[in-house]
Amino acid sequence: MNTREKYEIFYRSSMENREEFWKEQARLIDWETPFTRVLDYHTPPFAHWYPDATLNLCHNTVDRHLAERGDQNALIWVSTEVEKTLEITYRQLHAWVNQAAAVFMQMGVTRGDRILIYMPMIPQAVVAMLACVRIGAIHSVVFGGFAAHALASRINDATPKLIVTADTGMRGGKIVAYKPLLQASFHQVKVAKPKVLIVHRGLVPAAPLGPDEWDWDREMDRNLHAQIPPVAVPSNHPSYILYTSGTTGTPKGVQRDTGGHAVSMRASMKHIYDLRPGEVMLTGSDIGWVVGHSYIVYAPLLTGATTILYEGLPIRPDPGIWWSIVEKFKVNIMFTSPTAIRLLKKTGADWIHRYNLSSLRYLFLAGEPLDRETHRWIASTLKGQVIDNYWQTETGWPILANHAGLGLMDIKFGSPTVPAYGFDVHLVDEITGEPVKANEKGSLMIKPPLPPGCMTTVWGNDQRFVDTYYSRFKTLMYATFDYAMRDDDGYYFIMGRDDDVINVAGHRLGTREIEEILCTHPSVAEAAAVGVKDELKGQEVVAFVVVSKEGKPPGEQELKDLVSHEIGAIARPRDIYMVAGLPKTRSGKVLRRSIQAMAEGRDPGDLPTIDDAAVLDQIKEAIENK
Ligand code: ATP
Ligand code: MG
Repeated sequence: MNTREKYEIFYRSSMENREEFWKEQARLIDWETPFTRVLDYHTPPFAHWYPDATLNLCHNTVDRHLAERGDQNALIWVSTEVEKTLEITYRQLHAWVNQAAAVFMQMGVTRGDRILIYMPMIPQAVVAMLACVRIGAIHSVVFGGFAAHALASRINDATPKLIVTADTGMRGGKIVAYKPLLQASFHQVKVAKPKVLIVHRGLVPAAPLGPDEWDWDREMDRNLHAQIPPVAVPSNHPSYILYTSGTTGTPKGVQRDTGGHAVSMRASMKHIYDLRPGEVMLTGSDIGWVVGHSYIVYAPLLTGATTILYEGLPIRPDPGIWWSIVEKFKVNIMFTSPTAIRLLKKTGADWIHRYNLSSLRYLFLAGEPLDRETHRWIASTLKGQVIDNYWQTETGWPILANHAGLGLMDIKFGSPTVPAYGFDVHLVDEITGEPVKANEKGSLMIKPPLPPGCMTTVWGNDQRFVDTYYSRFKTLMYATFDYAMRDDDGYYFIMGRDDDVINVAGHRLGTREIEEILCTHPSVAEAAAVGVKDELKGQEVVAFVVVSKEGKPPGEQELKDLVSHEIGAIARPRDIYMVAGLPKTRSGKVLRRSIQAMAEGRDPGDLPTIDDAAVLDQIKEAIENK
């Protein structure tokens, strides 16, 4: 049987014998009370997986491994910000998590309460997450790079009883003081002010504790030998809330359950990412994003693997840093974003060739489109398998993937391959909702019930959940808000987001297609295309490109011709600007809406999630000097 056939059989069983399939997957997890029913779906679109079972997530990520792997590393913290490395065994992690759980309880947190975690990438952040789920509290991790406004809106929505934070973050060698940000956010908080537990990192002198503030180290020391038994919660009990990254609109609190989450994470390691117990995973992301939740913390630990928590930038102290970690810790599976790889591409392949990467089986990339050129470049540079996978905060694990654990299917550059087991994917006409043919672009929809691990609702707002995701067509379908195409071999290609369409004289162009073409030019490292208002045509294409250091810089005409030639005159950009960088969210997504605003001479607006605000000025200047 070839890998394609193997996948087809596996996928079909997840569709045709859904309950049997997920019953089988559930064996990967320890249950406190076993389930008698696999799925309760009597109130669509709300799916309750393993509805009458109970379990504890912390038991499954930590305690469960003690007998066999107590002395194995659970977590390796590598910080290039403070130049420290710390190896933490499952036994040590267990002790810390018990202590933190005791501290939380002493601070008045009980089952069902929310704890907001606003922290840099330090081990205490992971300890805090696991301590939450140990006692049945619900964590909401807010990315450590967010500032006051973003923080306040999340506090107002999640109403946490406690905030766990650090006094300082670090970024690119610079200290970021968290306390002023937290205090500024409290001015905008309309709900009861939470207590604060602070990790003092020792990078600046510790400020005296205010009222309702506690010191992490002191409280942990007071609970040195604490033993807090994991609280078994119903499968549907929320494990966490995570606000979507905020590329568009107001953040939504994605709520995830416990049982479905545990099963989906462990199963995805087995069937998709192919990480085995005892192996090592490096996920270059942040615990503030879903990739960090799923593939830095939960999935590797549920598997009994070692996960690397990296604090720092991918190019500092030099662009070889990640590869040196792969060599040093014999990383088996790596996961990061296409943005990170494009950044490394700009610095050249030499940095990768310096290291012995023989332990590395796969590099997975997700979070935004992986253009063909970048895919080809990194695959040939690594001489290894680079796997695109497509998913969302809402799903928590891949919707489209190449299932490495079942045996890799042929890779097509630019395609995240095929639907993952459990996802009933449909491509439909965005107006009529009718299925589109092969090689036609359609809205990517998923027929419910969604598989285990997907969001169960919007925190505190079931109606918003239904209205946002399930009200597109008359029949109940989950909308991803992405366009995709399926080719004759059944491979999928993501064509862009709903909100990224450029409409030139009635022709709907995906930004992705234009960017793909621009990136085929040997000296273009990155590109963003946006639509700007035009009296005659409705919109016109304007593109921004980042030129790589290798090769000679392209001419504007040359690039315009390239687009006309490959896509058609209709897509020919009116202007192309060469810029030093593109504005991105901290999770690496291009902020097309703000680029578009500037291209139309408008204000880019309030951008709490922007990574590097200086690039905005540069873009503005480029536009003004035209
Ligand atoms: P918000 O929903 O708040 O606007 P967001 O959609 O950027 O933010 P995420 O859940 O982090 O938040 O990102 C999921 C989106 O990222 C997908 O819907 C898709 O648009 C894009 N994406 C993720 N992986 C891929 C991929 N492999 N190829 C193409 N696009 C991808
Ligand atoms: Mg989204």
